[in-house]
Amino acid sequence: MNKKTVRDVDFKGRRVLSRVDFNVPIKEGKVADDTRITSAIPTIKYILDHGASLVLMSHLGRPKGKGYEADFSLKPVAARLQELLGKPVKFGPDCISAETMAMARDLKAGEVLLVENTRFYADEGKAKVKDDATEEEKKAAKAEMKKKQAELAEKLAPLGDGEIFVNDAFGSAHRAHSSTSLVCKFYKQNVAGFLMEKEIDYLGRALEKPERPFIAILGGAKVSDKVNVITNLLTKVNSLIIGGAMAYTFYRAKGIPTGKSLVEEDKIDLAKDILAKAQAANVKLLLPVDNVIADKFDAAAQTKTVGEAIDDGWMALDIGPKSAQIFADEIKKSKTVVWNGPMGCFEMKPFAAGTLAVAKAIAETKCLSIVGGGDSVSAVNKSGLAPKMTHISTGGGASLEFLEGKQLPGVVALTDK
Ligand code: AMP
Repeated sequence: MNKKTVRDVDFKGRRVLSRVDFNVPIKEGKVADDTRITSAIPTIKYILDHGASLVLMSHLGRPKGKGYEADFSLKPVAARLQELLGKPVKFGPDCISAETMAMARDLKAGEVLLVENTRFYADEGKAKVKDDATEEEKKAAKAEMKKKQAELAEKLAPLGDGEIFVNDAFGSAHRAHSSTSLVCKFYKQNVAGFLMEKEIDYLGRALEKPERPFIAILGGAKVSDKVNVITNLLTKVNSLIIGGAMAYTFYRAKGIPTGKSLVEEDKIDLAKDILAKAQAANVKLLLPVDNVIADKFDAAAQTKTVGEAIDDGWMALDIGPKSAQIFADEIKKSKTVVWNGPMGCFEMKPFAAGTLAVAKAIAETKCLSIVGGGDSVSAVNKSGLAPKMTHISTGGGASLEFLEGKQLPGVVALTDK
C-alpha cells in the first residue's frame, strides 16, 4: 500500500483524532453485535500503547441530522468499548461544543474519548435535493452542502491536536464526508489504521496483481447495482460467475424464458452488452445451467429443479445442483476469488443450497479469497466458513466502489508514503 499507516508515525505525546466504524446494531440500549468494535481494538490499543491520547468519532445509523436522537446515540458503544479495552472510556455529549472540546483537551496519554454520532449534524452527510429540482438547483444545493461539510470538518478538527488523523473506517471511505475525508485537510499526517490497511491491501492486491486464474462471483438482486463492478472486473478476471436474481436478466438477454423470476426489463440491453464484452475480452462468463424454481416467493412454496428455461408462472429462487457443481469446479481451479452477492434467496432454507455450495467451494480452495457485501458475508458467517476465507470485507458499499475501480475519498485523503 502506498499510503501511510499507524506504523509510519510517532504517536508519543499526541492527541490523536480517529474515525472508526462503530455503526453497530443497538437493541434495548445495548450493543447487539460488537464485531465492528472488536475489529477496531487493535488500532486503538496500538495508538494508546504508543503514548498518545485518543479521540474517536463514528456515525451510527441514519438519524435525521437535526441533533441528538436517543435511538442513534453512541453511548451504549462507549460502554461496550470500555469493557473491551478494560479501561475507562469518556463520552462526549456531541462532536463540536466547547464542553466536548474541553474534554478532548484534558485527555492524558493513554486516555480515550468517544464523541457522539457525527450524523447528528446534517452537514456531515449528503446534500438533500428535492426530487423535482432543476439541474441548476441540484448544482447549487451540492455546492452549498460542500461548503457546509468543509465548515463542519474544520469544527471537528480541534478534537485532536492537528498532527495525526487515523482513519480506520473503511466502510465509510467511499463517502466524502466531514469526518471521513474532509477533516484530513486540517491534519499534518493522515494515516490508515490496521483495518483500513487490510481492506486496501487485499482488495488492491486482487485488482492490481491477482494470482491467476482470477475469478469473480457476483450475485444478488440487481444488475443495476453491480453493473459497474462487472464492467471493471471484465477487464481483469479470467472468469466471471453470475448467479442470484441478476442471472435472469442475462437469461432474457440470451432469449431464455424466465417465468416470473426477478428481471430488470430495462437492463436487458445492458446484459447483452456485458455478454458481448465478456466474449471480446475472452472472459469465461458462467450463468446457471439449472435452477430451483418456486410457485411463489415463500419458504413454504412448491419447488422443483429445472434446466435453464423457467416455467410460466414459476420463479427461479436459487441456482440448481448442476450449476453449483460447475461453479465449484471453476472456483477450485482459481488462485484469486472475489465474491459479492448470494446465488439465491439464501435467507429461505429451500433456496440456500447454491450460496452455501459456493461458500464451501471457496473455503476448500487454496486461494486468496475476498468476500464482500452484507449478504454473502452473512451467508459465510451463518455457515461457519468465515475463518476459511482470506479476507471478509467490512464495507459493503465501499468494497463495491473499490471493485468498480473508483477512488475512495477516505483513502485518497490519506498521506502518501
Ligand atoms: P444484493 O443486496 O443485491 O446483494 O441482493 C441480495 C438479495 O438478493 C438477497 O436478499 C437475496 O434474497 C436476493 N436474491 C438472490 N437471488 C434471488 C432470486 N433468484 N430471486 C429473488 N431475489 C434473490
